[in-house]
Amino acid sequence: IDPELSPEFQELLQWADGVRSLGVRANADTPEDAARAREFGAEGIGLTRTEHMFMAVDRLPIVQQMILASTGDERQEALDRLLPMQEGDFYGILKAMEGLPVTIRLLDPPLHEFLPNAEELLVEITRLRLTGASEEEIGPKENLLKKVRALSEFNPMLGHRGCRLGITFPEVYAMQARAIFQATARLVSEGVKVFPEVEIPLVGEVKELAILRQLVDEVAEQVMKERGVTFEYSVGTMIEIPRAALLADEIAREADFFSFGTNDLTQTTFGFSRDDAEGKFLHEYVEKKILPENPFMVLDRAGVGKLMRMGVELGRSTKPDLLIGICGEHGGDPDSIEFCHQIGLNYVSCSPYRVPVARLAAARAKVKNGQ
Ligand code: PEP
Ligand code: MG
Repeated sequence: IDPELSPEFQELLQWADGVRSLGVRANADTPEDAARAREFGAEGIGLTRTEHMFMAVDRLPIVQQMILASTGDERQEALDRLLPMQEGDFYGILKAMEGLPVTIRLLDPPLHEFLPNAEELLVEITRLRLTGASEEEIGPKENLLKKVRALSEFNPMLGHRGCRLGITFPEVYAMQARAIFQATARLVSEGVKVFPEVEIPLVGEVKELAILRQLVDEVAEQVMKERGVTFEYSVGTMIEIPRAALLADEIAREADFFSFGTNDLTQTTFGFSRDDAEGKFLHEYVEKKILPENPFMVLDRAGVGKLMRMGVELGRSTKPDLLIGICGEHGGDPDSIEFCHQIGLNYVSCSPYRVPVARLAAARAKVKNGQ
């Protein structure tokens, strides 16, 4: 129990826990965040974003080697070096959440995000040329620039990311799945109860999930055989593009759980890039009352909320007990939490510090709406 929470507030939270039917999980990427979330009363991790793990200074050069590899062997060598690091990451988070579920999302962002910026590279090459640097110094940088340009996209948010990476670079997802299951096998052998939930991002088509689920299942089977242990795990998907909500009945065939990624779902439903909208035109839209204040947080207007409701209904028409949560920013917003209660989600997942508020909001939603 966190000492920062007063005894009166703790009592209120305990009352809320006795009332609410919506679960409350947290988004956490490190064992420290996971432990903090647990202190605040999180009942699991609803989202571990694995991309941050790739950004660590000691790993970035290996990640870059993996991306820039010219042969399969070279790529595999980088992946083999990343595997024990990722295993350590997952071991820590799963252990911190002993006895509770942990949703681990496989790599989501486009690969060029891990490479140097093309414009900065160009400036550096120009500077080297102007200062009379040798071809040996300039050549590798030009090669790198060529590769960065080849990977760059017109619209990365809608580009080669999420499960599309898993389809085109299955060895990356296979490494991550292996790291999750090796960590799980170790913990199970140590007598620690863990429940990893492997999550595939940006799915919009059941076949994407079917292919990647098979890959994950195969790795799980291999690890169980190699380590001589059995363990529980599940495989599910983010619902974060409109097509996934529209085809949720088909996607549910391959999913053990859904988690609404309302950050992406909001942007793709509006057809806005949130940063661009907020920086350029949104204020006029609000001034002219075309959109309400904070429109991206309003789920239950026709639009994002309608797609979520549809996703829940269609998903559960295939699997009546399908576990469904939310892990976008809305998972920590009291009004959105009420909406999540109304459409029958099993849990919301938010930042660790918002967990107490979410517990209260979930109880308030139950008192107001019943069921
Ligand atoms: C989301 O899209 O809501 C989500 C949780 O994923 P991310 O914010 O990492 O894209
Ligand atoms: Mg997302």
